[in-house]
Amino acid sequence: MSGIQASAAAILEGSPVDFGPASDGSGGGGSSGMIYLHRMEARFVNSECFRESHGFPFRSGKNQYRLAVISIEFRTGQHSYLVLIGPGLLETVGEAIKEKLAPSRIAIVSDTNVAPLFAEPVKKSLTSAGFDSVLITVPAGEQSKTLEQTGTVCEQMLQESLDRQSIVIGLGGGVIGDLSGFVAAIFQRGIPNVQIPTTLLAMVDSSIGGKTGVNAGAGKNLIGAIHQPMLVIDDVEILKTLPSRELSQGFAEIIKHAIIADAEMFRQLQDVDLNNVDFASLIRRNVEIKARIVANDERDRNGERALLNFGHTVGHGVERATNYQGISHGEAVSLGMVAACDVSINKAGLPEKQRNAIVDLLQKFELPTKLPPNFPRQKIFDALKFDKKFERGEIRFVVTSKIGSANLSRDVTMDDIRTAVGAL
Ligand code: NAD
Ligand code: ZN
Repeated sequence: MSGIQASAAAILEGSPVDFGPASDGSGGGGSSGMIYLHRMEARFVNSECFRESHGFPFRSGKNQYRLAVISIEFRTGQHSYLVLIGPGLLETVGEAIKEKLAPSRIAIVSDTNVAPLFAEPVKKSLTSAGFDSVLITVPAGEQSKTLEQTGTVCEQMLQESLDRQSIVIGLGGGVIGDLSGFVAAIFQRGIPNVQIPTTLLAMVDSSIGGKTGVNAGAGKNLIGAIHQPMLVIDDVEILKTLPSRELSQGFAEIIKHAIIADAEMFRQLQDVDLNNVDFASLIRRNVEIKARIVANDERDRNGERALLNFGHTVGHGVERATNYQGISHGEAVSLGMVAACDVSINKAGLPEKQRNAIVDLLQKFELPTKLPPNFPRQKIFDALKFDKKFERGEIRFVVTSKIGSANLSRDVTMDDIRTAVGAL
Protein backbone atom coordinates (compact mmCIF):
# COMPACT_ATOMS: atom_id res chain seq x y z
CA MET A 1 0.00 0.00 0.00
CA SER A 2 1.48 3.37 -0.95
CA GLY A 3 1.55 6.31 1.42
CA ILE A 4 -1.30 7.94 -0.41
CA GLN A 5 -3.41 4.81 -0.37
CA ALA A 6 -2.74 4.38 3.32
CA SER A 7 -3.99 7.89 3.91
CA ALA A 8 -7.26 7.04 2.18
CA ALA A 9 -7.52 3.96 4.35
CA ALA A 10 -6.96 6.18 7.38
CA ILE A 11 -9.94 8.37 6.62
CA LEU A 12 -11.96 7.01 9.46
CA GLU A 13 -9.20 7.66 11.92
CA GLY A 14 -9.44 11.43 11.69
CA SER A 15 -6.34 13.57 11.48
CA PRO A 16 -4.35 16.18 13.33
CA VAL A 17 -4.05 18.28 10.15
CA ASP A 18 -6.95 20.62 9.70
CA PHE A 19 -7.25 22.19 6.29
CA GLY A 20 -9.88 24.41 7.88
CA PRO A 21 -11.94 26.95 6.05
CA ALA A 22 -10.26 28.98 3.31
CA SER A 23 -8.09 31.60 4.92
CA ASP A 24 -9.19 34.74 3.09
CA GLY A 25 -12.64 34.70 4.68
CA SER A 26 -14.51 35.17 1.42
CA GLY A 27 -15.58 31.56 1.64
CA GLY A 28 -17.75 32.39 4.58
CA GLY A 29 -15.91 31.92 7.84
CA GLY A 30 -17.92 31.22 10.94
CA SER A 31 -16.64 27.69 11.11
CA SER A 32 -13.82 26.64 13.29
CA GLY A 33 -11.87 23.53 14.08
CA MET A 34 -12.17 20.20 12.38
CA ILE A 35 -14.90 19.62 9.89
CA TYR A 36 -14.24 15.91 9.99
CA LEU A 37 -17.57 14.13 10.09
CA HIS A 38 -18.00 11.08 12.22
CA ARG A 39 -20.18 8.25 11.12
CA MET A 40 -22.75 9.09 13.77
CA GLU A 41 -23.09 12.66 12.60
CA ALA A 42 -23.39 11.65 8.98
CA ARG A 43 -26.36 9.49 9.84
CA PHE A 44 -28.09 12.53 11.30
CA VAL A 45 -28.28 14.36 7.98
CA ASN A 46 -31.93 15.25 8.05
CA SER A 47 -34.49 17.87 7.21
CA GLU A 48 -33.58 20.12 10.07
CA CYS A 49 -29.98 20.58 9.07
CA PHE A 50 -30.95 21.11 5.46
CA ARG A 51 -33.31 23.88 6.45
CA GLU A 52 -30.69 25.44 8.66
CA SER A 53 -27.94 25.42 6.11
CA HIS A 54 -27.26 28.23 3.73
CA GLY A 55 -24.02 29.84 2.63
CA PHE A 56 -20.54 28.51 3.06
CA PRO A 57 -20.08 27.84 6.74
CA PHE A 58 -20.30 24.34 8.00
CA ARG A 59 -23.10 24.57 10.48
CA SER A 60 -22.97 22.62 13.63
CA GLY A 61 -26.52 22.31 14.84
CA LYS A 62 -27.78 21.09 18.19
CA ASN A 63 -27.41 17.47 17.13
CA GLN A 64 -23.89 18.19 15.96
CA TYR A 65 -24.77 18.08 12.30
CA ARG A 66 -21.96 19.42 10.23
CA LEU A 67 -22.46 20.04 6.58
CA ALA A 68 -20.46 21.55 3.79
CA VAL A 69 -22.61 23.98 1.94
CA ILE A 70 -21.76 25.99 -1.08
CA SER A 71 -23.95 28.70 -2.44
CA ILE A 72 -23.37 29.93 -5.95
CA GLU A 73 -24.98 33.07 -7.26
CA PHE A 74 -25.38 33.46 -10.98
CA ARG A 75 -25.90 36.65 -12.85
CA THR A 76 -28.99 35.18 -14.46
CA GLY A 77 -30.62 34.66 -11.11
CA GLN A 78 -29.90 32.68 -8.01
CA HIS A 79 -28.81 29.12 -8.04
CA SER A 80 -27.39 27.40 -5.01
CA TYR A 81 -26.78 23.86 -4.02
CA LEU A 82 -25.38 21.87 -1.18
CA VAL A 83 -22.18 19.93 -1.19
CA LEU A 84 -22.29 17.37 1.60
CA ILE A 85 -18.92 16.02 2.70
CA GLY A 86 -18.26 13.21 5.15
CA PRO A 87 -18.03 9.48 5.67
CA GLY A 88 -21.04 7.19 5.46
CA LEU A 89 -23.10 9.57 3.32
CA LEU A 90 -23.99 6.92 0.72
CA GLU A 91 -26.45 5.50 3.21
CA THR A 92 -28.22 8.85 3.42
CA VAL A 93 -28.50 9.66 -0.29
CA GLY A 94 -32.25 8.95 -0.41
CA GLU A 95 -33.01 11.16 2.58
CA ALA A 96 -30.83 13.95 1.23
CA ILE A 97 -32.59 13.97 -2.15
CA LYS A 98 -36.02 13.73 -0.52
CA GLU A 99 -35.30 17.03 1.19
CA LYS A 100 -35.14 18.65 -2.23
CA LEU A 101 -37.49 16.74 -4.51
CA ALA A 102 -40.73 14.78 -4.39
CA PRO A 103 -40.41 11.01 -4.83
CA SER A 104 -39.85 10.25 -8.48
CA ARG A 105 -38.00 7.83 -10.71
CA ILE A 106 -34.24 8.05 -10.65
CA ALA A 107 -31.59 6.87 -13.11
CA ILE A 108 -28.31 6.03 -11.43
CA VAL A 109 -25.62 6.35 -14.07
CA SER A 110 -22.40 4.59 -13.09
CA ASP A 111 -19.48 2.70 -14.61
CA THR A 112 -18.38 -0.92 -14.62
CA ASN A 113 -15.80 -0.38 -11.84
CA VAL A 114 -17.89 1.77 -9.54
CA ALA A 115 -21.35 0.21 -9.85
CA PRO A 116 -20.36 -3.18 -8.31
CA LEU A 117 -18.79 -1.33 -5.36
CA PHE A 118 -21.33 1.36 -4.52
CA ALA A 119 -24.58 1.13 -6.50
CA GLU A 120 -26.24 -1.22 -4.03
CA PRO A 121 -26.11 1.03 -0.93
CA VAL A 122 -27.26 3.99 -3.03
CA LYS A 123 -30.19 2.02 -4.45
CA LYS A 124 -31.11 0.76 -0.98
CA SER A 125 -31.09 4.24 0.47
CA LEU A 126 -33.22 5.55 -2.41
CA THR A 127 -35.75 2.74 -1.99
CA SER A 128 -36.17 3.37 1.70
CA ALA A 129 -36.74 7.07 0.99
CA GLY A 130 -39.49 6.18 -1.52
CA PHE A 131 -37.60 6.57 -4.79
CA ASP A 132 -37.81 4.01 -7.56
CA SER A 133 -34.40 3.74 -9.24
CA VAL A 134 -32.83 2.06 -12.25
CA LEU A 135 -29.11 1.47 -12.62
CA ILE A 136 -27.51 2.27 -15.97
CA THR A 137 -23.92 1.10 -16.22
CA VAL A 138 -21.48 2.23 -18.90
CA PRO A 139 -17.96 0.91 -19.56
CA ALA A 140 -15.38 2.51 -17.24
CA GLY A 141 -13.03 5.00 -18.85
CA GLU A 142 -12.81 8.12 -20.94
CA GLN A 143 -14.06 6.27 -24.04
CA SER A 144 -17.56 6.41 -22.56
CA LYS A 145 -17.63 10.20 -22.77
CA THR A 146 -19.22 10.33 -26.22
CA LEU A 147 -22.39 11.62 -27.85
CA GLU A 148 -23.18 8.03 -28.77
CA GLN A 149 -23.03 6.89 -25.13
CA THR A 150 -25.12 9.92 -24.15
CA GLY A 151 -27.77 8.80 -26.64
CA THR A 152 -27.65 5.22 -25.39
CA VAL A 153 -28.18 6.34 -21.79
CA CYS A 154 -31.08 8.61 -22.80
CA GLU A 155 -32.71 5.79 -24.78
CA GLN A 156 -32.37 3.44 -21.82
CA MET A 157 -33.99 6.04 -19.59
CA LEU A 158 -36.91 6.38 -22.01
CA GLN A 159 -37.28 2.61 -22.14
CA GLU A 160 -37.44 2.60 -18.36
CA SER A 161 -40.21 5.21 -18.53
CA LEU A 162 -38.25 7.99 -16.92
CA ASP A 163 -39.83 11.35 -17.63
CA ARG A 164 -39.62 15.08 -17.02
CA GLN A 165 -40.04 14.59 -13.27
CA SER A 166 -37.16 12.14 -13.06
CA ILE A 167 -33.69 12.68 -11.64
CA VAL A 168 -30.26 11.57 -12.84
CA ILE A 169 -27.63 10.57 -10.31
CA GLY A 170 -24.04 10.36 -11.50
CA LEU A 171 -22.20 7.81 -9.37
CA GLY A 172 -18.57 7.72 -10.44
CA GLY A 173 -15.51 9.73 -11.31
CA GLY A 174 -15.27 12.74 -13.59
CA VAL A 175 -16.22 10.71 -16.65
CA ILE A 176 -19.53 9.69 -15.14
CA GLY A 177 -20.03 13.17 -13.68
CA ASP A 178 -19.60 14.83 -17.06
CA LEU A 179 -21.68 12.23 -18.92
CA SER A 180 -24.53 12.02 -16.41
CA GLY A 181 -24.62 15.81 -16.02
CA PHE A 182 -24.92 16.19 -19.78
CA VAL A 183 -27.68 13.56 -19.92
CA ALA A 184 -29.51 15.50 -17.19
CA ALA A 185 -29.04 18.73 -19.15
CA ILE A 186 -30.68 17.41 -22.31
CA PHE A 187 -33.09 14.64 -21.24
CA GLN A 188 -36.60 16.04 -21.64
CA ARG A 189 -34.87 19.44 -22.05
CA GLY A 190 -33.28 19.25 -18.63
CA ILE A 191 -33.93 17.40 -15.38
CA PRO A 192 -32.22 17.60 -11.97
CA ASN A 193 -28.80 16.07 -11.51
CA VAL A 194 -27.28 14.76 -8.29
CA GLN A 195 -23.55 14.17 -8.29
CA ILE A 196 -22.02 11.45 -6.16
CA PRO A 197 -18.35 11.72 -7.08
CA THR A 198 -16.23 8.68 -6.29
CA THR A 199 -12.73 9.94 -7.18
CA LEU A 200 -10.80 12.63 -5.35
CA LEU A 201 -10.52 14.57 -8.62
CA ALA A 202 -14.28 14.51 -9.07
CA MET A 203 -14.88 15.59 -5.45
CA VAL A 204 -12.55 18.59 -5.57
CA ASP A 205 -13.08 19.57 -9.17
CA SER A 206 -15.38 18.06 -11.78
CA SER A 207 -18.54 17.54 -9.70
CA ILE A 208 -18.85 21.24 -8.94
CA GLY A 209 -19.14 24.15 -11.32
CA GLY A 210 -21.76 22.79 -13.69
CA LYS A 211 -19.58 22.00 -16.70
CA THR A 212 -20.97 18.87 -18.30
CA GLY A 213 -20.25 17.28 -21.63
CA VAL A 214 -18.58 14.73 -23.81
CA ASN A 215 -15.63 14.49 -26.17
CA ALA A 216 -15.69 15.04 -29.93
CA GLY A 217 -13.40 13.75 -32.67
CA ALA A 218 -11.72 17.17 -32.72
CA GLY A 219 -10.98 17.25 -29.01
CA LYS A 220 -12.02 16.77 -25.40
CA ASN A 221 -15.10 18.33 -23.83
CA LEU A 222 -16.14 20.12 -27.01
CA ILE A 223 -19.84 19.21 -26.79
CA GLY A 224 -21.71 19.99 -23.62
CA ALA A 225 -23.81 22.27 -21.49
CA ILE A 226 -23.62 24.20 -18.25
CA HIS A 227 -26.01 22.39 -15.96
CA GLN A 228 -25.49 22.88 -12.24
CA PRO A 229 -26.20 19.89 -10.02
CA MET A 230 -28.96 20.14 -7.48
CA LEU A 231 -26.93 18.35 -4.83
CA VAL A 232 -23.40 16.97 -4.49
CA ILE A 233 -22.64 14.19 -2.05
CA ASP A 234 -18.98 13.48 -1.22
CA ASP A 235 -18.71 10.32 0.85
CA VAL A 236 -15.01 10.26 1.78
CA GLU A 237 -15.11 6.56 2.68
CA ILE A 238 -15.48 5.86 -1.01
CA LEU A 239 -11.88 6.97 -1.52
CA LYS A 240 -10.65 3.87 0.27
CA THR A 241 -11.09 1.75 -2.86
CA LEU A 242 -9.52 4.30 -5.18
CA PRO A 243 -6.19 3.19 -6.73
CA SER A 244 -3.32 5.41 -5.55
CA ARG A 245 -2.64 6.67 -9.08
CA GLU A 246 -6.21 8.00 -9.22
CA LEU A 247 -5.77 9.60 -5.80
CA SER A 248 -2.65 11.39 -7.09
CA GLN A 249 -4.69 12.84 -9.95
CA GLY A 250 -6.95 14.52 -7.44
CA PHE A 251 -3.92 15.94 -5.67
CA ALA A 252 -2.76 17.50 -8.95
CA GLU A 253 -5.94 19.63 -9.03
CA ILE A 254 -5.65 20.33 -5.29
CA ILE A 255 -2.08 21.57 -5.71
CA LYS A 256 -3.31 23.68 -8.64
CA HIS A 257 -5.93 25.26 -6.37
CA ALA A 258 -3.24 25.95 -3.77
CA ILE A 259 -0.94 27.61 -6.32
CA ILE A 260 -3.62 29.85 -7.80
CA ALA A 261 -5.56 30.72 -4.66
CA ASP A 262 -4.38 29.42 -1.32
CA ALA A 263 -0.79 29.75 -0.08
CA GLU A 264 -1.81 28.49 3.35
CA MET A 265 -3.16 25.22 1.92
CA PHE A 266 0.09 24.90 -0.04
CA ARG A 267 2.06 25.04 3.22
CA GLN A 268 -0.27 22.53 4.86
CA LEU A 269 0.14 20.15 1.94
CA GLN A 270 3.93 20.44 2.34
CA ASP A 271 3.58 19.37 5.97
CA VAL A 272 0.81 16.80 5.69
CA ASP A 273 1.55 13.20 6.60
CA LEU A 274 0.43 11.13 3.61
CA ASN A 275 -0.73 8.39 5.94
CA ASN A 276 -3.03 10.72 7.75
CA VAL A 277 -4.81 13.16 5.46
CA ASP A 278 -8.05 14.69 6.69
CA PHE A 279 -9.87 14.32 3.40
CA ALA A 280 -13.12 15.88 4.55
CA SER A 281 -11.56 19.21 5.41
CA LEU A 282 -9.25 19.11 2.40
CA ILE A 283 -12.18 18.54 0.03
CA ARG A 284 -14.19 21.23 1.72
CA ARG A 285 -11.43 23.76 1.28
CA ASN A 286 -11.08 22.92 -2.39
CA VAL A 287 -14.82 23.07 -2.98
CA GLU A 288 -14.77 26.55 -1.48
CA ILE A 289 -11.95 27.69 -3.74
CA LYS A 290 -13.58 26.40 -6.90
CA ALA A 291 -17.04 27.61 -5.88
CA ARG A 292 -15.73 31.10 -5.27
CA ILE A 293 -14.09 31.27 -8.67
CA VAL A 294 -17.05 29.76 -10.51
CA ALA A 295 -19.53 32.03 -8.74
CA ASN A 296 -17.70 35.04 -10.15
CA ASP A 297 -17.49 33.72 -13.69
CA GLU A 298 -19.81 30.80 -14.34
CA ARG A 299 -19.54 30.92 -18.11
CA ASP A 300 -15.84 31.64 -18.48
CA ARG A 301 -16.43 35.23 -19.57
CA ASN A 302 -14.29 37.52 -17.43
CA GLY A 303 -11.12 35.50 -17.12
CA GLU A 304 -11.51 34.42 -13.50
CA ARG A 305 -12.66 30.87 -14.25
CA ALA A 306 -9.80 30.62 -16.73
CA LEU A 307 -7.40 30.69 -13.75
CA LEU A 308 -8.52 27.13 -13.05
CA ASN A 309 -6.70 26.25 -16.27
CA PHE A 310 -3.31 26.83 -14.63
CA GLY A 311 -1.04 24.08 -16.00
CA HIS A 312 -3.74 22.91 -18.38
CA THR A 313 -2.49 24.56 -21.58
CA VAL A 314 0.64 22.44 -21.75
CA GLY A 315 -1.17 19.66 -19.85
CA HIS A 316 -3.77 19.30 -22.60
CA GLY A 317 -0.96 19.36 -25.16
CA VAL A 318 0.74 16.48 -23.35
CA GLU A 319 -2.51 14.50 -23.20
CA ARG A 320 -3.15 15.06 -26.86
CA ALA A 321 0.44 14.20 -27.80
CA THR A 322 -0.04 10.80 -26.17
CA ASN A 323 -3.48 10.38 -27.71
CA TYR A 324 -4.90 10.29 -24.16
CA GLN A 325 -3.17 7.00 -23.51
CA GLY A 326 -0.58 6.09 -20.92
CA ILE A 327 -0.77 9.40 -19.10
CA SER A 328 -3.66 10.54 -16.95
CA HIS A 329 -5.14 14.03 -16.90
CA GLY A 330 -3.68 14.78 -13.46
CA GLU A 331 -0.23 13.60 -14.51
CA ALA A 332 -0.37 15.75 -17.65
CA VAL A 333 -1.49 18.74 -15.58
CA SER A 334 1.37 18.14 -13.16
CA LEU A 335 3.84 18.42 -16.07
CA GLY A 336 1.89 21.42 -17.39
CA MET A 337 2.18 23.16 -14.02
CA VAL A 338 5.96 22.71 -14.02
CA ALA A 339 6.07 24.27 -17.50
CA ALA A 340 3.74 27.08 -16.37
CA CYS A 341 6.06 27.75 -13.41
CA ASP A 342 9.05 28.06 -15.73
CA VAL A 343 7.11 30.49 -17.91
CA SER A 344 6.08 32.35 -14.74
CA ILE A 345 9.70 32.79 -13.64
CA ASN A 346 10.38 34.75 -16.84
CA LYS A 347 7.06 36.47 -17.36
CA ALA A 348 5.63 36.99 -13.88
CA GLY A 349 8.63 37.11 -11.57
CA LEU A 350 7.92 33.81 -9.80
CA PRO A 351 10.90 33.22 -7.48
CA GLU A 352 12.85 30.11 -8.48
CA LYS A 353 12.65 28.88 -4.89
CA GLN A 354 8.86 28.80 -5.12
CA ARG A 355 9.01 26.97 -8.44
CA ASN A 356 11.21 24.35 -6.78
CA ALA A 357 8.81 24.07 -3.85
CA ILE A 358 5.98 23.38 -6.31
CA VAL A 359 8.02 20.67 -8.04
CA ASP A 360 8.84 19.10 -4.65
CA LEU A 361 5.17 19.09 -3.65
CA LEU A 362 4.09 17.44 -6.92
CA GLN A 363 6.73 14.78 -6.37
CA LYS A 364 5.55 14.22 -2.82
CA PHE A 365 2.16 13.26 -4.23
CA GLU A 366 3.75 10.89 -6.74
CA LEU A 367 3.09 13.15 -9.72
CA PRO A 368 5.51 13.40 -12.66
CA THR A 369 7.56 16.58 -13.08
CA LYS A 370 9.74 15.55 -16.02
CA LEU A 371 8.92 14.17 -19.44
CA PRO A 372 10.73 11.02 -20.55
CA PRO A 373 13.77 12.09 -22.65
CA ASN A 374 12.40 10.52 -25.84
CA PHE A 375 8.93 12.09 -25.50
CA PRO A 376 7.80 13.61 -28.83
CA ARG A 377 7.78 17.23 -27.64
CA GLN A 378 6.90 18.57 -31.07
CA LYS A 379 3.52 16.87 -30.74
CA ILE A 380 2.80 19.03 -27.69
CA PHE A 381 3.28 22.20 -29.74
CA ASP A 382 1.24 20.78 -32.61
CA ALA A 383 -1.58 20.20 -30.14
CA LEU A 384 -1.44 23.67 -28.60
CA LYS A 385 -3.21 25.39 -31.44
CA PHE A 386 -6.33 23.43 -30.54
CA ASP A 387 -6.34 24.77 -27.03
CA LYS A 388 -9.17 27.14 -26.17
CA LYS A 389 -6.73 29.76 -24.95
CA PHE A 390 -5.15 29.93 -28.35
CA GLU A 391 -8.38 30.60 -30.18
CA ARG A 392 -8.40 33.65 -32.40
CA GLY A 393 -4.61 33.47 -32.37
CA GLU A 394 -4.59 35.03 -28.91
CA ILE A 395 -2.55 33.40 -26.23
CA ARG A 396 -3.97 33.82 -22.75
CA PHE A 397 -1.68 31.92 -20.47
CA VAL A 398 -2.20 31.51 -16.74
CA VAL A 399 0.90 32.52 -14.77
CA THR A 400 1.66 32.78 -11.09
CA SER A 401 3.85 35.49 -9.62
CA LYS A 402 3.79 33.86 -6.19
CA ILE A 403 2.20 30.78 -4.65
CA GLY A 404 -1.40 31.64 -3.79
CA SER A 405 -2.15 33.92 -6.70
CA ALA A 406 -2.45 33.73 -10.47
CA ASN A 407 -3.38 35.90 -13.39
CA LEU A 408 -3.94 35.70 -17.11
CA SER A 409 -1.05 37.00 -19.15
CA ARG A 410 -1.10 38.10 -22.76
CA ASP A 411 2.70 38.52 -22.82
CA VAL A 412 3.46 34.82 -23.08
CA THR A 413 4.66 33.75 -26.51
CA MET A 414 4.89 30.37 -28.19
CA ASP A 415 8.66 30.66 -27.76
CA ASP A 416 8.28 30.98 -23.99
CA ILE A 417 6.19 27.83 -23.97
CA ARG A 418 8.62 26.06 -26.30
CA THR A 419 11.49 26.85 -23.93
CA ALA A 420 9.55 25.66 -20.89
CA VAL A 421 8.47 22.41 -22.57
CA GLY A 422 12.02 21.91 -23.82
CA ALA A 423 13.21 22.03 -20.21
CA LEU A 424 10.60 19.54 -18.99
P1 NAD B 1 -12.72 8.48 -14.18
O1 NAD B 1 -14.11 8.88 -14.01
O2 NAD B 1 -12.36 7.77 -15.45
O3 NAD B 1 -12.27 7.60 -12.95
C1 NAD B 1 -10.97 7.04 -12.93
C2 NAD B 1 -11.00 5.52 -12.76
O4 NAD B 1 -11.27 5.20 -11.40
C3 NAD B 1 -12.08 4.82 -13.58
O5 NAD B 1 -11.56 3.60 -14.05
C4 NAD B 1 -13.17 4.57 -12.56
O6 NAD B 1 -13.98 3.45 -12.91
C5 NAD B 1 -12.38 4.30 -11.30
N1 NAD B 1 -13.03 4.63 -10.04
C6 NAD B 1 -13.78 5.73 -9.78
N2 NAD B 1 -14.09 5.77 -8.48
C7 NAD B 1 -13.54 4.68 -7.90
C8 NAD B 1 -13.50 4.20 -6.57
N3 NAD B 1 -14.03 4.86 -5.54
N4 NAD B 1 -12.84 3.03 -6.34
C9 NAD B 1 -12.23 2.36 -7.36
N5 NAD B 1 -12.22 2.79 -8.63
C10 NAD B 1 -12.86 3.95 -8.89
O7 NAD B 1 -11.72 9.74 -14.11
P2 NAD B 1 -11.60 11.01 -13.14
O8 NAD B 1 -10.15 11.20 -12.98
O9 NAD B 1 -12.44 10.91 -11.94
O10 NAD B 1 -12.18 12.19 -14.06
C11 NAD B 1 -11.58 12.54 -15.26
C12 NAD B 1 -12.65 13.15 -16.13
O11 NAD B 1 -13.17 14.31 -15.49
C13 NAD B 1 -12.15 13.60 -17.49
O12 NAD B 1 -13.06 13.18 -18.47
C14 NAD B 1 -12.15 15.12 -17.40
O13 NAD B 1 -12.37 15.74 -18.65
C15 NAD B 1 -13.27 15.37 -16.44
N6 NAD B 1 -13.20 16.65 -15.73
C16 NAD B 1 -14.27 17.46 -15.76
C17 NAD B 1 -14.25 18.67 -15.09
C18 NAD B 1 -15.47 19.54 -15.07
O14 NAD B 1 -15.41 20.67 -14.58
N7 NAD B 1 -16.60 19.07 -15.55
C19 NAD B 1 -13.11 19.06 -14.37
C20 NAD B 1 -12.01 18.20 -14.36
C21 NAD B 1 -12.06 16.98 -15.03
ZN1 ZN C 1 -7.97 19.45 -14.75
